[in-house]
Amino acid sequence: MGHVSADFSGDVAVVTGAASGIGLAILNALCEAGAKVHGFDVQGSPADVLAGGDRPVKFHQVDVSSTGEVQAAVGEVFDADGRIDLLINNAGITRDHMLWKISDSDWKEVLDVNLAGAHRMLRAIVPSMRERGRGRIVQVASINGLRGKAGQANYIASKAGLIGLTRAAARELGPDGITVNAVAPGMIETPLVAELPTSILEQAKAESARGQLGQPQDVAAAVLYLLSEEAAHVTGTVLTVDGGQLS
Ligand code: NAD
Repeated sequence: MGHVSADFSGDVAVVTGAASGIGLAILNALCEAGAKVHGFDVQGSPADVLAGGDRPVKFHQVDVSSTGEVQAAVGEVFDADGRIDLLINNAGITRDHMLWKISDSDWKEVLDVNLAGAHRMLRAIVPSMRERGRGRIVQVASINGLRGKAGQANYIASKAGLIGLTRAAARELGPDGITVNAVAPGMIETPLVAELPTSILEQAKAESARGQLGQPQDVAAAVLYLLSEEAAHVTGTVLTVDGGQLS
């Protein structure tokens, strides 16, 4: 099988949650495809990206739950590169408990990062995309935003909300040449799931049609398709990347 390889030379991208896991894989894939990439992460820059030397990557220490930090960092990107062509809202957290044990702070924090964080990024970036009549936006949701699962009602509500935000944004921005889509990963081997009990990981493998967990690169490949010129007529949709977990 050959490779699908879109060319993003000259494009400027912003990836949130880019210091780890899926976000880091998206950042790396976009770099390899020629884009200039700005990583926004509350952790700042991961050591291996710093070691990358002359790659066209810049990290900004940003908490997407802070409107001020988002606006300041987006301002830095415009100062450096003059525009943003591609936005990937990937930052996400879990605070998993059965719903009757979810505290107000665990509820608010998850919704504030996973859902309101994406809105803050859209609000800061979309006006310039509308002026230019061009833009590609991908939001990293989850298959659990498309189904129920015990033990993470706050996370599931945030991801279902992110899918709703995606559809609303696709409608509002379609006339301006901007597409907005979501990917819904199944269980992917990243630091986020490394702490989960083995039984949960085995259950996800058993659910998968392939009998295995996904890798961050699997999600990055789907994101790059949705960011490509070729995906111009694909908007407001959710692409599952789950090895058939939902099938
Ligand atoms: P990860 O924990 O490896 O990476 C998440 C990154 O987001 C980290 O670098 C973290 O510092 C950053 N982040 C967290 N809070 C932030 C904030 N307030 N502001 C800015 N950055 C912040 O997790 P991952 O598995 O790579 O997850 C990435 C996305 O994919 C998340 O939205 C997650 O919900 C989603 N997802 C993951 C899986 C999976 O199985 N790993 C499945 C479905 C969806």
